[in-house]
Amino acid sequence: DQVRHRFVKGKKLGEGTYANVYKGHYRDDPTKQVAIKKIKFIPGNTDGLSMDALREIKCLQEVRHPNIINLIAIFSTKDQNINLVLELLPLGDLEVLIKDKTNTFYNVADIKAWMGMLCRAVWWCHEHFILHRDIKPNNLLIAADGTVKLADFGLARSFADPFVKMTPNVITSWYRPPELFLNARHYSSVVDIWSVGCVFAELVLRNPFMAGETDIQQLEKIYEALGHPTEENWPGVTSLQYYMKPEVPIVRTKVDIMGYFPSLGVVGTDLIMGMFALDPNKRLTAKQVLQHSWWTDLPKPTKTALLPRAG
Ligand code: ADP
Repeated sequence: DQVRHRFVKGKKLGEGTYANVYKGHYRDDPTKQVAIKKIKFIPGNTDGLSMDALREIKCLQEVRHPNIINLIAIFSTKDQNINLVLELLPLGDLEVLIKDKTNTFYNVADIKAWMGMLCRAVWWCHEHFILHRDIKPNNLLIAADGTVKLADFGLARSFADPFVKMTPNVITSWYRPPELFLNARHYSSVVDIWSVGCVFAELVLRNPFMAGETDIQQLEKIYEALGHPTEENWPGVTSLQYYMKPEVPIVRTKVDIMGYFPSLGVVGTDLIMGMFALDPNKRLTAKQVLQHSWWTDLPKPTKTALLPRAG
């Protein structure tokens, strides 16, 4: 009784960078649906690809959480492909919801519910020494009951081993924190918190908050929105490899930031600013994010079953 015989593969759901995703179900119970993620096998380039797949497997096996996609089984097929059997998350992702402006309406209570689920997932990853490193609306999939689940751990990597070098080029640039552009070497779990802040901002604005076309532009967008880093607000920043002294330094205040996100009020602005601290040492940790008073401030988060769905 081989694992691969327990599942039946159905129609294709989508295509990713290193995998095709299919709908599927248990052979002995077709009502139990799954997603089957078949890792692409490219001859001559198998090392890197299988590393990504292995990382995803390792991460998903280590973390079990209601807001993290569940890995049900793994099997290989004759053609040497690795297949991940994942829980089926059929209601699309947060990116679809954000972009569907003409049909999908949501408010701060809904944002608080989605952000709560995201932040609990990230906290759980970090508790288990796993960085996701690619948090973005497109990787936040929605279950049939409306629950948001963090997915696509292809780039995630355990940071338990300090001797494993981490490549800076890991996060889609819009969601990437300044320390990665400046080439800080020992970046930490708070890279994910920056990305969470970008998702938060994008949910509020219904547009990407800082969308640069190149790495240089991305850093300029960050400075334009949040102000320049200085030795005062980020000790050591001027010694980083790619640091450049600005001709006219930009300074942003809490009032400026509140102006970008009026619906968040003073308390919500305080939280998003904590996620957007330029200095990674000053940025909130996942635990501190969850302890913030915004979560208990009114309005209360919307109950999962009542959350809006894409049209
Ligand atoms: P990418 O590499 O583009 O980030 P993936 O390879 O994880 O994405 O998946 C490709 C597409 O397959 C996704 O955009 C999504 O539409 C779909 N998909 C992925 N996982 C699931 C799932 N568990 N349930 C339903 N659809 C999924």
